[in-house]
Amino acid sequence: MALTGLQIYKLLPKTNCGKCGFPTCLAFAMALAGKKTELAQCPDVSEEAKTALGEASSPPIRLVTIGAGDRKAELGNETVMFRHEQTFYHKPVFAMRVDDTLSPDDLQAKKEKLKKLSFDRVGMVFGVEMIALKNSSGNPVKFAGAAGILNDPEYPMILITSDPAAMEAALEKAGSNRPLIYAADESNWEKMCELAKKYSCPLVVKAKGLEALGALVEKVKGAGVADIILDSEPENLHEALRDQVQVRRLALKKNNRTYGYPTIAFCGGDDIEMQAARASAFIDKYAGVIVLDVDEPWQALSIITLRLNIYTDPQKPIQMEAKIYPVGQVTDESPVLVTTNFSLTYFTVAGEIEASKIPAYLVIVDTDGTSVLTAWAADKFNPETISKAMKQYGIEGMVKHRSVIIPGYVAVISGGLEEESGWKVDVGPKEAAGIPAYLKKVGPKVKAPA
Ligand code: SF4
Repeated sequence: MALTGLQIYKLLPKTNCGKCGFPTCLAFAMALAGKKTELAQCPDVSEEAKTALGEASSPPIRLVTIGAGDRKAELGNETVMFRHEQTFYHKPVFAMRVDDTLSPDDLQAKKEKLKKLSFDRVGMVFGVEMIALKNSSGNPVKFAGAAGILNDPEYPMILITSDPAAMEAALEKAGSNRPLIYAADESNWEKMCELAKKYSCPLVVKAKGLEALGALVEKVKGAGVADIILDSEPENLHEALRDQVQVRRLALKKNNRTYGYPTIAFCGGDDIEMQAARASAFIDKYAGVIVLDVDEPWQALSIITLRLNIYTDPQKPIQMEAKIYPVGQVTDESPVLVTTNFSLTYFTVAGEIEASKIPAYLVIVDTDGTSVLTAWAADKFNPETISKAMKQYGIEGMVKHRSVIIPGYVAVISGGLEEESGWKVDVGPKEAAGIPAYLKKVGPKVKAPA
């Protein structure tokens, strides 16, 4: 039975240290009772308390990992129905469906196409992350051969067959990279559970409708499989959305552990536009894995962009790594500009430097992703932090001169920065759009190399 906030509070350290992101242990306990956070956020909780808290400390939706190594995908661990209540932690992963009836050359070609389904957005690369291999041939040998060709730790796999013999043959080739097994149903669940345990792989449990699905999940759990993904086999988008929402409500609002797992959704079909529409619905509500029949960048662009927006943490601005970025073919005479690590600020300033055709160093100061004026007002972009960043990232060793250009909006700190850094401080334009004209005016020492 779920514990109340006060019962949880009694087991916490009661130091009100704030490391969990809550001002007091009581606030944290209340949030934990409401499934709005997890016990792991408190670094000081005792092992004894962890045991005592039992289910209250485990996430309402289990964290399930597909794949191995750096490119493994993590799903679940969500704590809210709506992003504005806190955030969504793990974005749904996209899988490109491939049939095992393709020739080895065509399978390789598909893999190459998958690599091109990615886009650079605000300094990060987003794309289709998985391959869903379907045993369309019905032939275990062909299925295993295709799994061997596509097996790659860079792209976690979903193996799709209801035949345990075909699944085992494919797992022998690709099991070490921890693919997702699709799927255990009423007819094969015992054998699929054995395979999931033998190869330490996550397992999709599928049954028509939530009631039958819940009954089968309990059997699979009873057989010792913990990493489960749910498929309620909906017949249309209406049923699919209804089930997705219901599963999340049961897990978060009713604390029903039977449904406390990520879900999978299929969007295949000939109509590419409808696939994008269906995938958009599942990005919004609440699929963990979305399987698509796409292999061209234009087919994936809209949903990758939508996912980026929905799964951006509203509490954390998108930020760049704080360091020195050379823009263009810099030399030891190139000008040095400084700004904050808010992504939009970085890309705007870097873009204008590029447009000026005058290579320059851009020192990015860690201001928790805030823009210049916000960071200045919050005392995160001041002579001390700027000077510290310049020293820490070693700009002194990169240029012969000692002049730094600051954004015009913070002209007021120029004197303090000169004192703190020992560098001559020039006040640049207020708006990034003024940078090209400004740099061209700065003088011969910043001329672009011929
Ligand atoms: S981190 Fe732990 S001890 Fe510190 S306030 Fe949060 S719950 Fe209390």
